[in-house]
Amino acid sequence: MDYPGNLIVVAAPSGAGKSSLVKALMELDAKVQPSVSHTTRDPRGQEKHGREYFFASQSEFDAMVAADAFVEWAEVHGNRYGTSKKAIEERMAQGADVILEIDFQGAIQIKQIFANAVLIFILPPSWEELRSRLERRGEDAPDVIELRLANAAIEMAQAHKFDFVIINELFDRAVFDMKTIVHAQRLKFAAQRRARADTFKSLNIA
Ligand code: GDP
Ligand code: ADP
Ligand code: 5GP
Repeated sequence: MDYPGNLIVVAAPSGAGKSSLVKALMELDAKVQPSVSHTTRDPRGQEKHGREYFFASQSEFDAMVAADAFVEWAEVHGNRYGTSKKAIEERMAQGADVILEIDFQGAIQIKQIFANAVLIFILPPSWEELRSRLERRGEDAPDVIELRLANAAIEMAQAHKFDFVIINELFDRAVFDMKTIVHAQRLKFAAQRRARADTFKSLNIA
């Protein structure tokens, strides 16, 4: 499938700072737009339907799976999460760079469908720091934090399948690293040819 925009996929163990980094990147770069996923988990405190996620019941999610409405979906920490076709196709067709914050299973599925997608894995600087970020964030109960830490080891073992790795130690440095990757992606031959079709044509480049 070919669209004028780029697809950027970000995965990380819970608490590594993925949501904070993606938010900061989008504030700096209006051309990067989020894909809003569907999930069966309950909303957290400030989360709003349609902004962080589309919150779906088990049966609503089942119906979307049956209707083939998802590009990918996976079960993570006991809940289901999925990227709908609608969430990415409309924006990409308009030329936006769409960013997906999804787990590693979904990231690998996306790469199989969209070979041009760029996969970024975010690592925490240490186990101690990962635990303390999850505790400091204060959004999850202690047993949920233990489950997320146990899953982190499984997730990090998949980091080698990604194109890029960012260690989120100093936040501003990690944001700069994300910007650099997005910028490089836009300079790839295929992306340039899509974005600057007129220039390529006038220079007789096929
Ligand atoms: P977080 O880990 O603290 O960001 O907690 P969330 O409950 O928001 O997300 C849990 C996991 O589900 C994370 O690893 C997300 O990357 C992943 N996730 C979110 N949306 C999707 C999606 O659409 N598809 C897949 N495959 N995973 C998703
Ligand atoms: P994720 O989306 O990967 O689960 P969050 O973006 O919610 O992670 O970050 C987890 C917590 O760690 C948040 O409280 C966030 O403010 C904090 N955090 C993120 N990046 C850093 C960093 N580089 N240094 C210290 N704390 C950070
Ligand atoms: P949240 O945890 O709600 O995703 O992050 C809240 C805000 O804090 C985000 O806008 C993010 O940019 C910022 N932020 C999170 N962690 C850090 C950090 O360690 N350093 C800096 N400078 N900003 C941070």
